[in-house]
Amino acid sequence: MKQEIYVTQPFLPPLEEMIPYMKQIWENRVLTNSGPFHQELETALARYLGVTHISLFANATIGLITALQALRIRGEVITTPYSFVATSHSLLWNGIKPIFVDIDPDTLNLDPSKIEAAITPETSAIMPVHCYGCPCDVDAIQKIADRYNLKVIYDAAHAFGVTDSSGSILHHGDLSILSFHATKVFNTFEGGAIVSGSSGLKRHIDDLKNFGIADEVSVVAPGINGKMSEFNAALGLLQLEYVDKAIACRKSLDQRYRKGLEGIRGIRCLHHHDGGHKSNYAYFPILVGPEYEISRDDLYLKLKGHGINCRRYFYPLISDYPMYRILPSANRHNLPVAVAATEQVLCLPIYPGLDVSVVDQIVELIRAFASLPGLLAAEAR
Ligand SMILES: *Cc1c(COP(=O)(O)O)cnc(C)c1O
Repeated sequence: MKQEIYVTQPFLPPLEEMIPYMKQIWENRVLTNSGPFHQELETALARYLGVTHISLFANATIGLITALQALRIRGEVITTPYSFVATSHSLLWNGIKPIFVDIDPDTLNLDPSKIEAAITPETSAIMPVHCYGCPCDVDAIQKIADRYNLKVIYDAAHAFGVTDSSGSILHHGDLSILSFHATKVFNTFEGGAIVSGSSGLKRHIDDLKNFGIADEVSVVAPGINGKMSEFNAALGLLQLEYVDKAIACRKSLDQRYRKGLEGIRGIRCLHHHDGGHKSNYAYFPILVGPEYEISRDDLYLKLKGHGINCRRYFYPLISDYPMYRILPSANRHNLPVAVAATEQVLCLPIYPGLDVSVVDQIVELIRAFASLPGLLAAEAR
């Protein structure tokens, strides 16, 4: 029987290594509300990521929603249409109007040169995404934010462990939000975190994620329940022991793909931020251009026929979903680069434990489809 391959497989540590943590939780009888494992994971993650202030969350979406609350963002926020839908949803949940701005064709991140034209007197913040873990042009974005007195909140859901020349990518902007969802590079089944720049802001965020409760008799803000449980925090501590190995494994698969796909007409591997800086190899997106023999969707279907389940991340664009497409900035003429990307992108399987022979097989298939005679390719459609 042919084995089905998926775009990702959640990473799990050995089960027996989780048992001592669970015994400890049962003994402590502290299940949530900033228990010992929660505190330990905050400390361990701060050290691992090279940041000072981090607040754990139940998931990144609640983290994004809380981040906007913490900075009292109102009115309009400039963001990218090329992301997972939670980015924009966090704005709608705060009654904020998303303003979509096009992306850069090389990085597929928000294009800083297009931001200024979208700023109005209602604009209060920019919410970019480090798409696929590739860092945004953080300096250009900060310059614009400073000039117009805007906050910057990074959706860093893909950017666990990513660094640039100044250290952790999470230092940029006012706040950065990580996701520890099962499908991400580092997972706690469900989870997330906000990285902030000061102990005062961290305290405010910690209050907000716990209903706004500051102490036994004071509620200081209309907060939410965004807390991470002790189980998820303990799992995070265990996962952290394996994450370097997991990223190294992703890196070798990434390199294998890159080498294998070299020279195939119409196939472009996305540029990876490297050269001394750390990437996390969270995804392996390729762009299937018009010079390739068959379309992106045909390639997707043909690979599926061979048991290789790729994903068209991000397709459709956020701005094409019904709750967004009514916005003037969602007009496809406003977003030509994002439209081209969403029609060409295909994320290939990459995860620790994926066999190199499967990568080679995928590369061979992509190469073989590329040399299909025109007639055959037409038939396959
Ligand atoms: C996964 C993801 C989220 C949401 O993360 P959750 O932890 O599942 O809430 C938000 N933004 C982006 C870009 C993501 O990929």
